[in-house]
Amino acid sequence: MFIDTHVHLNSPELSAHLEEVLQDALRNKVTKMIVVGYDLETSKKAVVLAHNYDFVYAAVGFHPTEIKNYTDKEYQELELLAADPKVVAIGEIGYDFHWDTTTKEEQKKAFVRQIRLAKKLKLPIIIHSRDAHQITYDTLVIEEAKEVGGILHSYSGSVEMAKEYIKMNFNFGISGPVTYKNGKNMKDVVASIDVKYLVSETDSPYLSPHPYRGMENGPKNIPLIVKTMADIKNISIEEMAQNILNNVKRILGERYE
Ligand SMILES: [Zn+2]
Repeated sequence: MFIDTHVHLNSPELSAHLEEVLQDALRNKVTKMIVVGYDLETSKKAVVLAHNYDFVYAAVGFHPTEIKNYTDKEYQELELLAADPKVVAIGEIGYDFHWDTTTKEEQKKAFVRQIRLAKKLKLPIIIHSRDAHQITYDTLVIEEAKEVGGILHSYSGSVEMAKEYIKMNFNFGISGPVTYKNGKNMKDVVASIDVKYLVSETDSPYLSPHPYRGMENGPKNIPLIVKTMADIKNISIEEMAQNILNNVKRILGERYE
């Protein structure tokens, strides 16, 4: 059995043929999925999906590029959504300096506000960090996010930084790039970091693993990622998958299962 800890079944792409996406996933033994929100609308959708399917859980949160016109009203709605028993994390939240739809200050305010919400509700956080490794780490330290911990999704930072994040109670989402020839950072992290801090994710519909790079990704591709992780760790795919399931239970705690 496999888990996809970061999948956007709430995206227009996957919503358009949801039943097929789910059947393909279940056929490939991907029997748990965490649907991650990135704005208010997709967070609501994540919760609806979690109610429609036993094997689906939700994370709710505002991605750093989506917070432009959000006021107290949206954050109040987020807090209400987060109270749902099938919401297992706040996310995806963080920094993204690849795009410039929002300023660094706006992103910081939104990130801090959502970390504080997660702490208030005792929920782990799922972090998106792009071109922002140091500031992500610094914000987590200042806000004492260690208290809730969570997952750095599609982690592409260094092994050194990963060791610092572990001290902060964070874990690493390993995705399609681990299967790429140029996915060196992610391969290094899998090789060097204790298996207990690693989880599998697709970030579907993005980041398809090799040999499907460039095509629409789906949770059905999780076994390709877990197989690559198992090969790097020199263990069986079954053992790797079981480790990941145990890790997710530990990270997400009470509301998961
Ligand atoms: Zn995502």
